[in-house]
Amino acid sequence: MNPKLLATRWQDLPEPVIRRLQAEKLRHYLRRVVMPFSAHYRELFRQHGLAADSFRSLEDLQRLPFSSKTDLLNTPEHSQRVRDFLLIPDPKVLAHRPSTILRALCQGRERVRNRFEAEFRPIFMTSTTGRSADPIPFLFTRHDLNNLALTGKRLFEISGAQREMRLVNLFPYAPHLAFWQTHYGSTAFGVFTASTGGGKVMGTEGNLRLIRKIKPDVLVGMPTFVYHVLHQAVEQEMRLENLRRIVLGGEKVPDGMRRKLALLAGKLGAESIDIIATYGFTEAKMAWGECPGAGDETAGSYHLYPDLGILEVINPKTGEALPPGHSGELVFTPLDARGTVVLRYRTGDFIDGGLVYEPCPRCGRKTPRLTGNISRSSEVKEMRLDKIKGTLVDFNQLEHVLDDAEHIGAWQLELRKRNDDPLELDELVLHVHKTDGVREDKLVRDLNNCFVAKTEIHPNRIVFHDADEMRELQGVGVQLKEQKIVDNRKPSGADRVPRPPAAAASDRAGESMEVAV
Ligand SMILES: [Zn+2]
Repeated sequence: MNPKLLATRWQDLPEPVIRRLQAEKLRHYLRRVVMPFSAHYRELFRQHGLAADSFRSLEDLQRLPFSSKTDLLNTPEHSQRVRDFLLIPDPKVLAHRPSTILRALCQGRERVRNRFEAEFRPIFMTSTTGRSADPIPFLFTRHDLNNLALTGKRLFEISGAQREMRLVNLFPYAPHLAFWQTHYGSTAFGVFTASTGGGKVMGTEGNLRLIRKIKPDVLVGMPTFVYHVLHQAVEQEMRLENLRRIVLGGEKVPDGMRRKLALLAGKLGAESIDIIATYGFTEAKMAWGECPGAGDETAGSYHLYPDLGILEVINPKTGEALPPGHSGELVFTPLDARGTVVLRYRTGDFIDGGLVYEPCPRCGRKTPRLTGNISRSSEVKEMRLDKIKGTLVDFNQLEHVLDDAEHIGAWQLELRKRNDDPLELDELVLHVHKTDGVREDKLVRDLNNCFVAKTEIHPNRIVFHDADEMRELQGVGVQLKEQKIVDNRKPSGADRVPRPPAAAASDRAGESMEVAV
């Protein structure tokens, strides 16, 4: 079977063909690209007695040990660990390949040299956004940038974009995947896009000014920031009748958030809005998106690109790969990456539906899809929420409770020690912005009931803030990701989240509004 089918017909191949072609492409990729030029994987394959031909089918992928974030972190003995994952071509190996010799004879040496430059020379980078660890750089070559444009273009196609549409890209301008996936994707697709750089670059007012001028059909950005911008737009009584799509990335998108965004868009005059989530991560160098659900605000499924990578769902405890339709941790292996390459990368992200191959019920495409909600376990671990007041608390569930709660908009959960004394008990403070005229004592009672029903604990205090105070607390436009859960339990050290002075002041100002629980 022609292996090129996987790329040309990526949207409509049956499962057995996809799996067979992926295994074939993997063998070729390992043999020609990874094993000769990756220091880390050459050694790992040697240690485990593996060769490219060890992978006859996708099931054989399980013989390859996982890689994870800890493999990429520097150690005192090894200060440049991520370099071992960079493909560094050996000119001698390349020069002796019959294909190189043939091409040099037909096209000239210069063309061949340029081709290898484009394939292997790193010219661009994005990095991870880790809060506690140092960011890890992922290098891209021209070949990778072409794939970034390709995956971006596919994202636009799947999300139902049309060339006449106008986009405003609200992702923060930073060396992070979301901004650049949008930039390269919109350029490759050929649709007008204005990138504001997010709140940090232009401020909320600057973003709103541009939105007012451009009257976009599509807003692209992080859920909390898009929410904030739309909320401000409603307060200013703006009209956004053209708005048809909101495309979200960089954070997970709970159903409650979709509902609230759709509500705000409706207040702005948008008649029918599709809220589309995307999922991607630095190590994959690509993102996947949902197709539109014709106003349906519930989660769809992420459409994958089988020619560019393999996603496995594994049992996080045993590491065993699970059959389609099972929930578990997502593991990614690229099939065409250059620059920095990690294989069988454990994302730490959990999907509660799984990988499926049936045609998409919304659009009919036959790409493999990830269905269900994705939660990032790293967020849970970083917050150590299992220890709150000695009760096991599921952070994801808490987030759903708050996003689904009526009468509140932006919110933040703050973990702190009573009186800031490290030996004292944990305290949970909920900061909220009330969106309508509901009575505060009733709202406090309702929120507490929700908390207890879902998590068996309730916040020590609920503090009400206006929209500006909430924005400062969340670090909208200051922090790269809006701070929805902050852990201020450590009196000093890297994990402590500095509180902006104005927010601290507003906390005091808010004391009169506090309702003791
Ligand atoms: Zn679809």
